[in-house]
Amino acid sequence: FQPWNDPAAQPLVEFRAVTKRFGGVTAVADVSLSLYPREFFALLGPSGCGKTTLMRMLAGFETPDEGQILLDGVDITAVPPHLRPVNMMFQSYALFPHLSVADNIGYGLKREGLPRAEIDRRMAEMLALVKLDGLGKRRPDQLSGGQRQRVALARALAKRPKLLLLDEPMAALDRKLREATQFELMDIQSELGTTFMVVTHDQDEAMTMADRMAVMDHGRLVQIAPPDVIYEAPVSRHVAEFVGDINILEGRVESVEGDLVSVMTPLAGIVELDEEAPALSPGAPVLVGLRPEKIALSHDEPAQGTNKVRGEIWDIGYLGDMTMVQVMIGGDDGQLLKVSLTNRSRRIERPFAWEDAVWLSWDVEAGLVLKP
Ligand code: ATP
Repeated sequence: FQPWNDPAAQPLVEFRAVTKRFGGVTAVADVSLSLYPREFFALLGPSGCGKTTLMRMLAGFETPDEGQILLDGVDITAVPPHLRPVNMMFQSYALFPHLSVADNIGYGLKREGLPRAEIDRRMAEMLALVKLDGLGKRRPDQLSGGQRQRVALARALAKRPKLLLLDEPMAALDRKLREATQFELMDIQSELGTTFMVVTHDQDEAMTMADRMAVMDHGRLVQIAPPDVIYEAPVSRHVAEFVGDINILEGRVESVEGDLVSVMTPLAGIVELDEEAPALSPGAPVLVGLRPEKIALSHDEPAQGTNKVRGEIWDIGYLGDMTMVQVMIGGDDGQLLKVSLTNRSRRIERPFAWEDAVWLSWDVEAGLVLKP
């Protein structure tokens, strides 16, 4: 399932050079983006980067200042919200407190004037879909937070939109429930085949659920790619730091031979990196990014000639599934690097201790070249 790589695939949604300003603030800046049928898309970015504004333009609650929005190839830029085959599930759920669960779900269908029998059929179908069979007669205040969220989802899906927009759908749920709900949402989405676009500032949530995601910064889409590509090949320092943890070493390019880039770093000596078609010349300043889980820790000096550095353990944080170790390299005024160790065995052992002298090492494939 990779329609975005298929030049013949017809997008469901197209943003064409869309810009939206509020007074002096450019909330969305020249965004072009295609969403495909059946795709689960996540929009990720820090608070205020323009995620909600982008989504609201798709729902029709805001009008772009420049550019166009197309749905199934038709320009919908000026089409009012209720005439778009798009629905939105709000963070607050916005359920009607005086209506039963079933009537909340059927509300939009009733307004559309569907026959009673069809409304009842769809209500039952939606209740089953979100696993709330038997709770149709309850009022929202007689439900748990997770159940309320499902009612909101069922209501948003009842009209069978082509596209469902979800604004921070897990924000009101606790951590355990969030994880379970993420998988349920993915199941429901793939069962219905509806295109989902989720807005979130939670990177784990975006990575878990999305086929593709976009990282937004100051109104621009900085990178659009599947989650693993965003994590393993971020295009910039901003993306690398926003998605996951990363250590950054400063350096200068020493040499480039084919795909092998050598970078001289003041703190870790020569770092060799495997970089596809690197557009770098010797002498250029670069940043080397190293994810904490890609670094190995040992007491003995590794045999490899490069990609290793001595350090001292400053902190050890035990997290159950893993241990996060902070290692100071380059002396007391050097730089702390994070190393994460997977706790594979059930034995309680402490191979490393505070103030241990250690070696950090990593593969040629581990490091990322990032533009400063
Ligand atoms: P959050 O994650 O905090 O919801 P966001 O990424 O969704 O943030 P937006 O709500 O889209 O960001 O806001 C983008 C920018 O546009 C912000 O600077 C915000 O203050 C501004 N903005 C959004 N809506 C309006 C409005 N109606 N009037 C004026 N400024 C607005």
